[in-house]
Parts: sequence; C-alpha cells; structure tokens
Amino acid sequence: MTENTYRIDIKGRVQGVGFRPFVYRLAKKFGLNGWVLNDNSGVTIKVNSTLTVVESFIAELRTTAPVISSIQSVSFFPVDEEDFHGFTIIESQDKSTEVTEISPDIAVCPDCLRDMESQAHRINYPLINCTNCGPRYSIIKTVPYDRPNTSMTVFPMCETCMAEYRDIADRRFHAQPVACNSCGPSYFLHDRKVEINDLNEIIERAATLIHSGKIIALKGVGGYQLLCKATDNEAVARLRKRKKRDSKPFAVMFRNVDALKIFAALNDGEEESLTSWQRPIVLLKQKKELCFEINRGLTSIGAILPYMPFHCLLFRKLRIPALVFTSGNYSNEPIVKDDAEAKSKLSTIADTIIYYNREIENRSDDSIVFHENKQSFMIRRSRGFVPQSIKLNLDVEGILGTGGELKNTFCLGKGNNAILSPYIGDLEHVEATDFFRSTQKHFKELFRIRPSLLAHDLHPNYFTTRFAQESGLECLAVQHHHAHIASVMAEHQLDEKVIGIALDGTGYGTDGKIWGSEILLADLSNFERKFHFRYLPLPGGDQAIKEPWRIMLAILHQLHGDNLRMDDFEFLRDIQKPKKELLWQAIINNINIAESCGAGRYFDAVAALLNICSVNRFEAEAPIRLENIVAQGIEEFYPVEIQTEISMMNMFRFIIEDLKTKVSTPKISAKFHNTIFNIVVHCAENIRSDVGINKVALSGGTFQNRLILRNTMKRLEGLNFEVFTNCQVPMNDGGLSLGQLAIAAKRRSEKCV
Ligand code: ZN
Ligand code: ZN
Ligand code: FE
Repeated sequence: MTENTYRIDIKGRVQGVGFRPFVYRLAKKFGLNGWVLNDNSGVTIKVNSTLTVVESFIAELRTTAPVISSIQSVSFFPVDEEDFHGFTIIESQDKSTEVTEISPDIAVCPDCLRDMESQAHRINYPLINCTNCGPRYSIIKTVPYDRPNTSMTVFPMCETCMAEYRDIADRRFHAQPVACNSCGPSYFLHDRKVEINDLNEIIERAATLIHSGKIIALKGVGGYQLLCKATDNEAVARLRKRKKRDSKPFAVMFRNVDALKIFAALNDGEEESLTSWQRPIVLLKQKKELCFEINRGLTSIGAILPYMPFHCLLFRKLRIPALVFTSGNYSNEPIVKDDAEAKSKLSTIADTIIYYNREIENRSDDSIVFHENKQSFMIRRSRGFVPQSIKLNLDVEGILGTGGELKNTFCLGKGNNAILSPYIGDLEHVEATDFFRSTQKHFKELFRIRPSLLAHDLHPNYFTTRFAQESGLECLAVQHHHAHIASVMAEHQLDEKVIGIALDGTGYGTDGKIWGSEILLADLSNFERKFHFRYLPLPGGDQAIKEPWRIMLAILHQLHGDNLRMDDFEFLRDIQKPKKELLWQAIINNINIAESCGAGRYFDAVAALLNICSVNRFEAEAPIRLENIVAQGIEEFYPVEIQTEISMMNMFRFIIEDLKTKVSTPKISAKFHNTIFNIVVHCAENIRSDVGINKVALSGGTFQNRLILRNTMKRLEGLNFEVFTNCQVPMNDGGLSLGQLAIAAKRRSEKCV
C-alpha cells in the first residue's frame, strides 16, 4: 500500500494529561514519522502512513489514552504530501480562538509516591508530580497549557528535571509542573515565633502541634485547608468556634481506606470515588464516632483521602487515624488561596500556617459527592471536576448562565459545551461577589468566550440578576425551578416535554411568590405548573427559614385559631416566653407574614413540631436531622389533599395526634417521608395519564435527602417511569447555571430572545 500524509485532529480533554508524549510513544511503536502539537483546538498529529496503519494507530490511540484524558472526537484525512524524518513534538501554537479543554487538578499518583522514597533528587519532595498527576487548573494563567503560562514559570527546571522532561521514556516527559528538591517550589511553616523552610522540621513540628490539639492552616491545591486532630473533641470545638461555624459537619481526611473502614461503611462505588484521581469528599454512613464535635450526632460523615504528597508525608508522622479537614475561611467566605491573605486572615483561626511558594492561580474547594442507587451524585462540583466541560446537544456558544444566589456557580457556553465555574459560594458577601466577578472574567479569557446572552434567575434582587442586567448585554430571566429541571434535561440531552419535579428550598415564582415544590410539565423553552404544595406562612420572612419553630407556630394558628394552648406543644416550651408571645401577636394580627411553598419548609415545620430542630444552625439542618432519625420498615403515611395546590394541613393534625398518643418521632418522620413520595408519585401518574409523557426529571435541593431520592426513584421506576436526575452537576442551586444556559440556548434557537 502507498504511504500518504495524514492529518489527525483530536478534540476533548487532551491537554495537560500527558497526551502528546503518549502520542509520541505510540507513533514510535507504529514506526510512524511526523509530529504532534497542542493547539487551542486540541491535539493535531501529522504522520506518513498507509491507510490501514493510520486506522489501527487511531484505534489504539482511542483505547489506550491516558486515564485522565477524555477524547470527544478524532478525525483524520489525507493532506498534501510531506516528508518527515522521525517523530517530534512541536511547540504549542496559540493561533485559534477555538479552545480545548483544560485538565482539572489530579491527585498524586502511586508512582510518584514511590518516587518520593526512591528518586535521589525527589526524596520526600512534597510537590512531586508527573504526567499522570499534579496541579493543572489551579496553576494555569492562560492557554495553551505550557509551563510559561502557569505559576511554575518562576521555577526554572534544573538539569535533571529538564532531562526527564525531554526524555520520551520518562514518566515526566513533557509534564509541565515537573520539579524536584533542587529546582521546585518548597514548603514553609509560619507562626508567631518561627518561619521554617526545612521540610523534615515542618512535618515534625506539624505532627507535634496536631497531636497536642492545635489547628493548622495548610495550603492545598485550590486553597487553604484547616486541619486538626479528628479524635480530639476540644480541638474540633475550638476550630468550630474560631471559624465561626455553628453546627455544620466537618469533613475528615482519613489516613487510608483501612482506617476509614473502622469509622464508616463503604460500598464499592463509594470506594471508587474516594480513591479516584478527582479525590472528592464522599458522604458516608458513619459506623463509629471520631468525636462528637465533627458532626454533632448525625449519622453521616464526609470523608476524603490524602491527595497531595504533603498529606501523605504528614500522615507518616501522625499517630492518629484522621484529621478534620475543612476549607480555610470564615463561614460563608470564599476559601483563602493567597499566602499573604492566609497570614492575615487565617492566623486568628489557625495556630500555625504551612504553605508552599507556588501561587494558586485558580481557587477551588474540595468537591463533595454521595452515592445512592449505584450512582454518584454531586453536592459540590469543584476541585478535580472543574473546568471539565459537559457535552450538550444544544448550541450554547456565547451564553452565560449566571446561576443563583446561594451555592453559586456560573456556566459559560462554548460550542456544544457547558463549562461550569468552580463552587463560588453564597453571593451575600462582597468577598464572594468579587470571586464571582474575577473567575467569570478569567473564564472568558481562558476559554475565549465573549458572552452575548446572559441568562439569570427571575429573582429581581439576586446579585446575579443585577450583574446580568448591568452588563448591557441581552438578558433572559429564567424561573428557578424551570432551570433546575432544565439542568437535568441538559445533562441527559433531553429536548422534549418531561414531567419535572423540583423539590427545593426557595425560588422566585412567575407570580412573585416564593415557590419550591413544583411539579411541572416542562420542555427546555417553557413550563406549565401542574401541582405545588400549599403555601406555608413564614412569620418574620427569612427569619422563619432560619427558625422553623416560627413556621410551625403559624401553622398551629391556622389549625387551632387564636385559642391555641402553647403549653400543649413540647417544641414551644423550649422557646423563650417573650419571643413566642411577640411572634404570636404578629401571627394573630397578620403582621410581616411572608409565604412560601418550598418543600424544605415542610421538612422544617415537621422537624420543629417533633422538637428535633427548632432553629437551623446551618442550611437544611432541620431536614437533615429529620432524615437522620427515620425508622426503618414503616409503610404508613399521612392523608393529604391533592389538587393543583396540595394541602398537608390534615397531615399536621395527624402528626399532632400521633405525638399525643406517644407514637415515636422516628416513626412519625418515616410516615412524613412516605407522604412526600406518595404525593410525587401520585402527581407524576396524574400527568402521565393526562398527556402520556413517561419521562420524569428530578431536581432541587430536597433530593439531597437520600431517603427522598432513593424512594422517589424506586417508586417511579417501579411504575415504569423513565427517571432522570442530576449526576454531573449538583441538584442544589450549584446546578442552576447549567439549566439557565440550556433554556437560553433553546429559546435563542427558537428566536424567542
Ligand atoms: Zn504522578
Ligand atoms: Zn529539578
Ligand atoms: Fe433551588
């Protein structure tokens, strides 16, 4: 067969993942001459070859590509004859506006951990990395991904590292952040008394401090973390107090899987997530308590395994199974990433700060996932996942979904790809809005996107709404729960009518009321609101969301009128008298009573009535505690009235009756949960019998209640519904921006905007 010159174009996540060296080695194996280069559109290869050989070369390229890469497409075609000698890797060319994917950060690989013990120039080198692991997104300033475009640019490679970087047979061939003890960045320990740069001393001192109950701020991949001994209740309590974190559970870094298995139950999927290169926090069922202050009596625990070489070095010196491992920030502020900021801000929380002198260009928190029904679900999508794009079947070019107010992420459209930002946080604070603005600006540069259409939430007072409206660009307001449902549809490439079930906290409705229990008939451009829960009174507005006892007191007023005997209710006995009297007056005189039909408010009210949680000290505490106590094996449920508006007032009457007759709270909680599945299933069946649609999309923060998620899916699937949920983005408001993007794309294609 005759030889021709072929050009091969590869698109997908193929930069920063060792793709070019991989191609080089493969070309050598096939005896091909030519070249490979990274450009902004992906990886391009030219080879002299016969058709048969080039085809088998591509087949092997697809099947043996590095684990971290993900190939979206490979195309090849003959081009003008060229004469090549040998195979070369050509320098990057920054010429196209088309941008390829940037690799997320990758946890340290087993080979590097071995090298850390055996390679002369990298003995205990705490920032060791290779083609298969190390920092990526966190260090990139601009594309293409080459060392001068990263924060490694200030560390010239030594001769040894350079030789490895140039040696095709080496695992560090063309690894951009390659470094060693003599040329790379290094660690420092800083506290009031000392500044140490000797690694052994740092580790020694860190271990001593942790053993003695001190708190350490440690620079991680995408920002600082706070650590302390996980078995030391006083240390954890101190961390809680200094971080101003009331009651929200802390994540825990375990030494290894074996240590973890003593304290938490682990199934195969969970273990796979924990040990994956993304290395997220995984929510697990707790078997044994490390100490009370970590999760304050909850039965789940957020676990993570070491993902930086430093973590591994530290655990070698520690005599404990686990460390509390939480973001380095004050509650609600973005995670601290700069060393000067760490020294000024975190020194009031941590006793000591440990950092390395390589800048974090892009901030990201640890990601959080959980497993249910053999699937993994995202709670926070950040390190390890960002900025990996999500493939859509819509043209989303130039659209920006600005996201919601809480747990914000934004989402940029590039061709058919949705590129989500890292977790930005709650935009009620100026630090978070600054983070939003700067990340948004950087993403536009990094991915060469010029937004022309901004999709935002319908809520007029959200920061993201004002941000969109002040941009001067075309805007589209998207209803919150429609966006939740559209985020599921976008992920699963559904472009048709579906039954959308959004059980949620708060979202602004088209009628200006607060929605949050929406059963919709929806497609990507529009929706019809078929069912929703009855509105509950929120005395004192948002204060009632923080203090569920207020909602329950107002419900009692609706049930019993002005003659309520407060002493009949245990949960009211624990509230200070002047406080409840004042609120009671407001309720009977109908002063400052907002309304919401958010599903979360029903969980809040029931948790208050059962006296499990009268005040939410962190978001969704009441629903979490309610789920936490559920009794197993209960089939009973409460009666409800299902019309367009679903009333559960009778349910509250029955719960009060159950309390009087001393039915246990775990049983009441189970009956309440069963009532919710019943409603969802009944409504879905009702719509199906009406319009013959069999696909159901589930979304909204309430589905992070695992019992609700598991049983809703099971019951619907049992009735032969095709059930879709969010998998790649969170079901909470962290996934809203994707839904906004999809709706805007669809409506633009229909020329509605
Ligand atoms: Zn490695
Ligand atoms: Zn070196
Ligand atoms: Fe929401």
